[in-house]
Amino acid sequence: MVLARVILKPGHDRPVRRHHPWIFSGAIARIEGSVEDGDIVDVWSAEREWLARGYLNRRSQIVVRLLTWDAEERIDDAFWARRLERALAARARLGLASVTDAYRLVFAESDWIPGLVIDRYGDFLVVQSLTLGIERRKELLVRLLAERCRPAGIYERSDIDVREKEGLPPSEGLLWGTEPPDRIVIHEYGHRFRVDVRHGQKTGFYLDQRENRRRAAAYLAGARVLNAFSYTGAFAVYALAASARHVVNLDTSADALAEAEANLALNGFSAAEQLEGDAFRVLRHLRAAGRRFDAVILDPPKFAFAQAHLERASRGYKDINLQALHLIESGGVLVTFSCSGLVSPDLFQKIVFAAAEDARREVQILERLGHPADHPIRLSFPEGEYLKGLICRVW
Ligand code: SAH
Repeated sequence: MVLARVILKPGHDRPVRRHHPWIFSGAIARIEGSVEDGDIVDVWSAEREWLARGYLNRRSQIVVRLLTWDAEERIDDAFWARRLERALAARARLGLASVTDAYRLVFAESDWIPGLVIDRYGDFLVVQSLTLGIERRKELLVRLLAERCRPAGIYERSDIDVREKEGLPPSEGLLWGTEPPDRIVIHEYGHRFRVDVRHGQKTGFYLDQRENRRRAAAYLAGARVLNAFSYTGAFAVYALAASARHVVNLDTSADALAEAEANLALNGFSAAEQLEGDAFRVLRHLRAAGRRFDAVILDPPKFAFAQAHLERASRGYKDINLQALHLIESGGVLVTFSCSGLVSPDLFQKIVFAAAEDARREVQILERLGHPADHPIRLSFPEGEYLKGLICRVW
């Protein structure tokens, strides 16, 4: 079968040759042949050399997402089965079974399956289909997943904004098997967490913070801990399990705080102090009230969604870090994160430094934190790296 051809403008072939998976509209000279959005296309250089093959969506800024750089490789059912198998087999080799029953099975572009995220929560799989190219093949992918993983059910949580850029409406609900219960109880490093895959944030739980929660816990024995941006209290459970003296959960979401209470109880801990409110304000109130902590955890949501917001986002990160530093006893610990991909680890460190200068505190980095192995970073797709964190000693 002859595929339609996407011909690049001169000089736009280099990222493709380096296996970067995105072709932006600005790189394309023209499209030859009749083709529908969602179809497979071949990508050719201006000099008429075959480069790669992927799926098309002219409604998106990213017009082609590349799937293979092998001219012989056909994008048929067997292709998708092979790609899924590769991601699943790589997870099996991580030895996560003794650690957790909740982890990411497929991380989209970073696993060479652009637009598809699959998380496992116990016996259930939660799927995010982020692009038209995946949407068109969802049935096939769900069938392959059901055959390979034999889950109790496969649930979809494609309710995120990025679908709009692909011209897709939100989509949510059961795709296969049985409905998940109201709360799935997952296990992580011996702790248990209730996950609401229908209404929870992301696909229900911040799986990407698993290893970082464990690292942070190593510094929290005996500490009075402020867990800011707590969501359902996962850091709080780790902190109390590590013998923290007192934990305060802070979040804008009353529902998240209620779940945090339930998670503490599930793990045998009595209620923590709960503060519902905007961290930007509450951190100031805590300082005004003379509260001090031995450790502050800052795990805010994404602040920077586009390059144009980077400066504002940086000010936001600086402000919460500054406020947190004011609350920490000398010799205490700051555990601080950014999940904005646009904020590089280097920039993030500079932001924390600027906050330390303003707070007139000396700060040492004890540990640099990043992605867990089930959220791999593909060298040819650095955009896949978003999470970074620092564990700091504050004097
Ligand atoms: N640390 C959590 C994940 C945090 S997600 C974990 O390990 O599971 C970010 C959280 O910040 C969300 O629960 C969101 O409700 C909360 N949030 C967003 N903006 C906020 C603000 N201005 N002040 C306080 N909490 C906020």
